[in-house]
Amino acid sequence: MEKKIYIETYGCQMNFSDSEIVASIITEKNYTSADKAEDADIIFLNTCSIRENAEQKVFNRLKQLQHLRKSKPGLVLGVLGCMAERLKSSLLEEEEMGMRVDMVVGPDSYRDLPQLLLDVESGQKAVNVILSSEETYADITPVRYASNGVSAFISIMRGCENFCTYCVVPFTRGKERSRKPESIINEARDLFGQGYREITLLGQNVNSYHWKNEESGAAWTFPQLMEAVASIDPALRIRFATSHPKDISEELLQVIASYNNICKAIHLPAQSGSSSVLKNMNRKYTREEYLSRILAIRSIVPECAVSTDIIAGFCGETQDDHLLTLSLMREVGFDFAYMFKYSERPGTLAAKKLEDDVPEEVKSKRLQEIIDLQNELSLKSNQGDVGKVFEVLVERTSKKSEKRVSGRNSQNKVVVFDNNTGLKPGDYAMVKITGCSSATLQGERTEG
Ligand code: SF4
Repeated sequence: MEKKIYIETYGCQMNFSDSEIVASIITEKNYTSADKAEDADIIFLNTCSIRENAEQKVFNRLKQLQHLRKSKPGLVLGVLGCMAERLKSSLLEEEEMGMRVDMVVGPDSYRDLPQLLLDVESGQKAVNVILSSEETYADITPVRYASNGVSAFISIMRGCENFCTYCVVPFTRGKERSRKPESIINEARDLFGQGYREITLLGQNVNSYHWKNEESGAAWTFPQLMEAVASIDPALRIRFATSHPKDISEELLQVIASYNNICKAIHLPAQSGSSSVLKNMNRKYTREEYLSRILAIRSIVPECAVSTDIIAGFCGETQDDHLLTLSLMREVGFDFAYMFKYSERPGTLAAKKLEDDVPEEVKSKRLQEIIDLQNELSLKSNQGDVGKVFEVLVERTSKKSEKRVSGRNSQNKVVVFDNNTGLKPGDYAMVKITGCSSATLQGERTEG
């Protein structure tokens, strides 16, 4: 009988993209997918280690899933991704963990999953957490099992060598390596042929994409790759994530400005507005350098939205440093931000060398101030769009009303509007913005 597999994904877009690779590797070997954990013979949690509460969530879920073993004695429970890589075989220690896990598989070992499943079926526990300097899964066509049929991720590189002091990724995802450009372009072309209308090129640090053909010596950079993918068809939208501020180049900005189908939205994690905190974070840029990148974006791609990540209460952060973060946010006027309290991760450079010395209540207070300010900035940004007309790619029927659809504009803002002309997901529509909240734009269809 065919075994059913269920994959639950936590964390970043890269993990969602990896789950599609896992689904592809597994379903090739006669496993089929289940819609929910209760129906599965094999459950994989593809995990995230970026913050302590992300790991806690996975531990809670693993404990909750144990009861399924009563009705399914042969159930296989596997931990994939960054937690697998960080905690390795300690996850298999039942007494210590207070639960049973059967498999632990790191992000570079997914090709071994079929064999590891056989090992588990023969009564062994299975672990593979070896990091690779070459694996890019370039030849694997991801199974878009949770897709809306409109937007898809394509991972173009893996790993990171920036070693920001707070970050666990260089330890869980290893050396930076880029995927062969032809395989990326072919995947994008295939997706367009299947009806997808938006792809996001993914990597921990896409601007340092670099691929060299050893035979011909020909090299590809990220701007070249973007141009090649954008040239597939003007109706295919291109996004990318994430950029490191130290290497967002003018060449890339020129490419973004030159192609209508390259979305005018850049996610540029600032993390802090204080140069001394940035130095402690090993971010390799100062406040002034970050702002100079923003100036370059504003002058070359004036209609570009800019979003960011901010960490509140990093090691050694003073009240003055915090005020510098608030003033940076105001100066840039971010359209959107992901905001978090600093959470020390074992094994990182900060955990080894810096004191996590900002009290929890101060971290919380600063984070709240950051969130309040960002809500103001997002509302202001959206209010500035009222009266403008945007091309919107329809993604789904609105959650609140069947008669309305929701999609996103080039700036990555969600736009909701009446659908009285039978628009379907994947259609483009010109929409005039008539109102907004801090999270959403509302509009009405127009001719242009
Ligand atoms: S750039 Fe910094 S924050 Fe981003 S993945 Fe690499 S080390 Fe982590």
